Amino acid sequence: MPTEPQRFSEIVTDRAHPARVYDWLLGGKDNYPVDEAVGKQLPPEAKDAARQNRQFMHRAAGWLAAQGVDQFLDIGTGIPTEPNLHQIVQDVVPTAKVVYTDNDPIVLRHAEALLISRAEGVTDYIEADVRQPEGIVEHARRTLDFDRPIALSLIALMHFIPDEQDAHAIVRSLVSTLPSGSYLVLSHAASDLYPELSAQVTAEYAKGGIKLGFRTRAEVERFFDGLDLVAPGLVTATEWDPAGPVEGAEGSGIYVGVARIP
Ligand code: SAH
Repeated sequence: MPTEPQRFSEIVTDRAHPARVYDWLLGGKDNYPVDEAVGKQLPPEAKDAARQNRQFMHRAAGWLAAQGVDQFLDIGTGIPTEPNLHQIVQDVVPTAKVVYTDNDPIVLRHAEALLISRAEGVTDYIEADVRQPEGIVEHARRTLDFDRPIALSLIALMHFIPDEQDAHAIVRSLVSTLPSGSYLVLSHAASDLYPELSAQVTAEYAKGGIKLGFRTRAEVERFFDGLDLVAPGLVTATEWDPAGPVEGAEGSGIYVGVARIP
């Protein structure tokens, strides 16, 4: 169970929400007609991007667990979609601890699925906004040991946070709480890979009342400043494979990277 008393914020169904549009793109059922309406206006590539992004999460989480990382702080978790991060990492390290965070009340409603941890491990859920990183870290300390490596995952989250809200400073602040040997895993929609599609997607979300700010490669790279990107570095979602180059990788408009905190 979440360690905070449940607040059950109201679920707004007359306005689209990012977590529910993403759920629709992934073929999920936890969305409303307003979310589907936004999804249906998006180019077909948006569904590919959601799937590619999710598959990157699977590979990165599995790789981190294989490196021996057994603590995860995942912010912008989304509506549960199997396999969830804890299922992937606990398959490799059954004792792994995972703290999930999202600011959408619908994710809290479905959090039960995220809280079914293996008996040997732990999962927890925090309803919180990444724009208040201190509160998240304070809560996460109840479950995670900040003296040992932690993987911080911000997957398809930071394009919801514009520069005016100090997106880069938020990530720096979260990373600064992690000890050496920790990791940052980040994926982010690109504004410069398929500029027309990217403009179209941003415009359709905006019509649904959701503000998105895709970023260029250089802007995404700045999230990793001072960190050691692991091979293959900052690449697109379908190209990320620490085992070596992916032959004939499908095109992707999502930048991804995994970096070690020195
Ligand atoms: N990380 C998941 C889901 C990505 S969808 C995956 O990649 O599969 C983006 C998620 O970020 C949504 O669930 C949305 O509710 C959440 N989100 C958006 N803005 C947020 C904020 N300011 N704080 C916390 N979560 C946020």
